[in-house]
Amino acid sequence: MVITGIVKDPIYIEHKTGPYHPESPRRLEVLYEMLEGDEVAGLFEILCPSKATREEVEYIHKPSYFDRVAATAGLSYSYLDPDTQTSEKSFDASLYAAGGILLGIDKIMNRELKNVFALVRPPGHHAEADRGMGFCLFNNIAIGAMYAIKKYSIDRILIVDWDLHHGNGTQHSFYSDDRVLYFSTHQFPYYPGTGDFPETGKGKGKGFTINVPLSVGNGDAEYCRIFQKVLEPVAELYRPQLVLVSAGFDIYFKDPLGGMKVTPEGFAAFSQILQNIAERSADGKLLLTLEGGYHLGGLCDGVKAVIKQLAGEFKTGHLIVEKDIVEIGQKADNTIEKTISVQKEFWNCF
Ligand SMILES: [Zn+2]
Repeated sequence: MVITGIVKDPIYIEHKTGPYHPESPRRLEVLYEMLEGDEVAGLFEILCPSKATREEVEYIHKPSYFDRVAATAGLSYSYLDPDTQTSEKSFDASLYAAGGILLGIDKIMNRELKNVFALVRPPGHHAEADRGMGFCLFNNIAIGAMYAIKKYSIDRILIVDWDLHHGNGTQHSFYSDDRVLYFSTHQFPYYPGTGDFPETGKGKGKGFTINVPLSVGNGDAEYCRIFQKVLEPVAELYRPQLVLVSAGFDIYFKDPLGGMKVTPEGFAAFSQILQNIAERSADGKLLLTLEGGYHLGGLCDGVKAVIKQLAGEFKTGHLIVEKDIVEIGQKADNTIEKTISVQKEFWNCF
């Protein structure tokens, strides 16, 4: 039985960013070619999205910002910030990108599929309520979380963001909100500058933002150890009803923008950890959306490994042997201890 959906649409390739931009249409072209290969044949169902509506985008974004992005439609190029370029169809592509996540959420919440990987662009996690930045137009995952809250009346959504960069837009969207727990690992200090340990939320949202800022050089074992030592115990208490993931492949060991050391096997292991978390409290409900990842070969191998993991029968345990995580992953212990020392005020598992 097919349990995995893949959101895929040619419109996402129509968001053009110029010849030298790392967030290029080629990223999805290579992924869509990979989907045709024998290794993943029969593992997933293709989901064809429709556009998110203005109302849905405005769950997160200000009307004036929606108008600003809408005004780029038909223009061969314009800039929302120095890194964030648009083309004729970027506005359309960004509505379909958010719409792809909404479709995936519907499929998961209605139990037609167990998990979904939205292979969309432009990416979203840097987009703020009133501005696009860092290659992102609309915050796809934040719009998705609000949609799930409103449409399905759930109030415990876990967003895990393993992209190289901190998801400032996602964090800020739910900073005062306890209905979304935002957990991010990211290179720090680095773009966009946010995501330090003391950023833990405010008001009702206090304790519902968990930042794990990392120095360069962390790989599969360190990330797994962080997920096991920090994320898993918190998730056990929080008991998310839906797990959303900002899946960035710019932590791949050869990525031109980053300094991390993750391999395709690592991405599969992270996915398995998140499947386990989703299984324990959300009947496996898990959606990943593509954020960064700029080494085309690494992006392709990483996404392929994740798809194979998602589509397999649910397994307990971890792909990476415990021994490796314990012995090699200890490099992350200092960061883990700092995170716990900040978070223990909010989570009595620590
Ligand atoms: Zn990134």
